[in-house]
Amino acid sequence: MPNYIPLIDDQRFLPDRFVTGTCPHCGYERARGDQCEQCTTLLDAAELINPCSVISDSTNIEIRTSKHLFLDLPQMQYRISAWIESKRKIWPKTSYSIAKKWLTEGLKGRAITRDLKWGIPVPLDGYRDKVFYVWFDAPIGYIGISMEWAKQKGDPDRWKWYWKDLNTKLYQFIGKDNVPFHTVTWPATMMGADDGFVLAHIVKGFEFLNFEGDKFSTSLHRGVFTDDALKEFPPDYWRYYLMVIAPERHDTDFQWTGFQQAINRDLSDSLGNFVHRTLTFINTHFTGKVPECGPFEPPDTAILNKLDQIRQDVQSLLNEVEFQKAIKTIRNFWADCNAYFQEKAPWKAIKENITSAKTTLNISFTLCKALAILGAPFIPGTAVKIYEYLGLEQDVHSERWDSISAQGVFVGTQIHPNPKPLFQKIDSDQIEALQRRYGGKEAPEIIEKKEEKILPLITYNDFMKVELRVGKILEAEKVKGTKKLIRLIVDLGEKEPRQIMTGLADQYDPSSLVQKMVIVVANLQPRKIHGLESHGMLLAIEHADKSDKYTVVMTEGVPPGSRVL
Ligand SMILES: [Zn+2]
Repeated sequence: MPNYIPLIDDQRFLPDRFVTGTCPHCGYERARGDQCEQCTTLLDAAELINPCSVISDSTNIEIRTSKHLFLDLPQMQYRISAWIESKRKIWPKTSYSIAKKWLTEGLKGRAITRDLKWGIPVPLDGYRDKVFYVWFDAPIGYIGISMEWAKQKGDPDRWKWYWKDLNTKLYQFIGKDNVPFHTVTWPATMMGADDGFVLAHIVKGFEFLNFEGDKFSTSLHRGVFTDDALKEFPPDYWRYYLMVIAPERHDTDFQWTGFQQAINRDLSDSLGNFVHRTLTFINTHFTGKVPECGPFEPPDTAILNKLDQIRQDVQSLLNEVEFQKAIKTIRNFWADCNAYFQEKAPWKAIKENITSAKTTLNISFTLCKALAILGAPFIPGTAVKIYEYLGLEQDVHSERWDSISAQGVFVGTQIHPNPKPLFQKIDSDQIEALQRRYGGKEAPEIIEKKEEKILPLITYNDFMKVELRVGKILEAEKVKGTKKLIRLIVDLGEKEPRQIMTGLADQYDPSSLVQKMVIVVANLQPRKIHGLESHGMLLAIEHADKSDKYTVVMTEGVPPGSRVL
């Protein structure tokens, strides 16, 4: 079957991921040739409006035919549809609705080979110069790597225990742009193979996480990445906030102020406070030993009933992979625990009704232990620390879920004599510094980073090797078939004016440059840009706060050819 593949003038095939353009479905201007990441529609590169090469920025693209292998998805429409319908109640909406959209539009054949050098070669005569499309072979790699693992374990058939056992429940966690490959094309491949492979039980599709209102970007230093994150705060701080804002239902936004609030208000003031006041009270009034439990008063019964309910709720939510709802349920319970302690006021009861105070602290100890187990999947380091402070020797991560509501077996347990607060609050100065460092809104730190990157020192003579001269632009025109290239004719006070190419068409209307006096590197070796010779280079300033913004250096009042020193 033929597939349309664009080709540019420098005789290179551009596989679909190397072409960008406007999505014909939603108008997003940076859609890739295989998929629009904005609306998740899978595209054929030939559908893109204003296609442009990712490599050279050239728009001089020609479409040629090339022979490719296809997945015959139309033939699988009914089976995939039935399978997706069977998941309607258990899959998150993101996964179900993206898959459903595909099915409603009607499945089309998808090419699974590409004219690329990099990738898995196609083991079939007639296609050996091609490779597989990444989202055809990557999921098969899930099985491949299990086979490798089994081989290394010395039990080569062990992989079947995962991939071919009917009792396997396969969970997949992916961003929404990869949902179609995990809900349609790969399942279709597996069904088509008809070799007893398990299909996903749940495909947990996530929406996108943004950073302070914009996309994360490594090139623009926008966002915190793992290495830096762990230098700034302990892993549980990140785990907690990222789960609270996990984009489970819609795109969400990482905000430093939100991070600060989550750590200060939830972790420190709520969870940290409850554990700390319980431990301090036991140390101060009961020589660090868990007191016995007396008869229950109504708040005691209420909080323990609530605990049992929370245990069941969180268990169900975890089974449904509803992590965000689970952590929010737990967070609300931290507040309930504090309210319980406040209501029972053991600091008063210790003088008036010691039995009541003992019961409160006995129950509070049980609650702290329960909070450690409940929190273990989300804030594992904190869970371990709570157990240590409670004087419990067992491993919190080996505890059974139903032991959360276990009562009364801890009387006499000696707790840690000198527990420290579980969390450090983050103050606003710190937050402002973080916003600067990681490119919040103003991002002046980019200037600092640039300064750090100053090149090695050169001598005066080295500098004098660069001949900078004033030039007058006589003509300027945009080069057809390119996005940014301008062809300039510049007078440098020589016999003949020079042709200089510059990539500023996205910054300047070429006609606005005519008659302007600019600074030119006059002794740069000529080079060909887009087939046109360039004899020099214009000086321009890259803005420190916006790396895609340039201003041409201009001057006036001097004749062309004047040397700049
Ligand atoms: Zn789109």
